[in-house]
Amino acid sequence: MYPDLHRHLDGSLRPSTVLALSGAPMPEGYRFRAGMGLAAALRCFEFTLSLMQSLDAVRRVAAEACEDAAAEGVSTLELRFAPQLHGQPVPEVVDAALDGIAGRAGLILCGLYGEAPGVLEELVDIGASRPGVVGVDVAGGPSPVHRFGLVDYAGACQRARRLDLGVTVHAGEGRPPAEIAVAIEVLGAHRIGHGTSILDDETVVDLALRRGVTLEACPTSNMHTGVVPSVAAHPLQAWLRRGLRACVNTDNTLLSDVTSPEEHRRCGLSEADLAVVIAHGHAAAFNR
Ligand SMILES: [Zn+2]
Repeated sequence: MYPDLHRHLDGSLRPSTVLALSGAPMPEGYRFRAGMGLAAALRCFEFTLSLMQSLDAVRRVAAEACEDAAAEGVSTLELRFAPQLHGQPVPEVVDAALDGIAGRAGLILCGLYGEAPGVLEELVDIGASRPGVVGVDVAGGPSPVHRFGLVDYAGACQRARRLDLGVTVHAGEGRPPAEIAVAIEVLGAHRIGHGTSILDDETVVDLALRRGVTLEACPTSNMHTGVVPSVAAHPLQAWLRRGLRACVNTDNTLLSDVTSPEEHRRCGLSEADLAVVIAHGHAAAFNR
């Protein structure tokens, strides 16, 4: 049974639900393509988000994501999304997602790179009072036009930790490993989303080892965003040789057109390594 700790709700709709909510099949221009780059990949969410601007749609997509993951053989599931992007009062959006999940997955609330830190601070408050919320995340990616950088979310993330929420941060997704160091040391991240560049800096590897940080590998997504040239070139196996904790995740089942078993298969791991990453994934789940 697989763990999937990094699956975005708004990237994991069923194709049949896209059809039902929009009246048309998923437009090809909004699917991930090999080497498209992170900025173009992030733009794909505009379409799926446009279909999830009602509480009913959020509830439905959350429920179906749990059913789909169970059918794939995922026994430890964490779903994540940014409730502030769904056009309804944020606490109600979170409650709609929790209704749909009905105890079958942990929910992670995502602040976004560039947002005012107050947004993530509010998500921490909302999450802390709801047992189904297991953690917070900083998602998206940095941009030179952003007024706020990763360090500006330290207060919210450290407060999340004190309130027993897990902290995961999208970091080092094709960007220098210094970002991973900030996520771990300053924001207190328990887990790192992507982290593909970590081996470029031994001091950051040592930091992740010392803190027992788990890397959430999303190899197919990384191939699409051009962070790795192919799934086979993903550094997952090198991470394991270095002693790093890592698990394998889908990121987005619709946009990347992948399932958890397929993502694990594509990594080409030995049976022993496969067992290790599956164990790391189950062990790294956020529990409250
Ligand atoms: Zn992600």
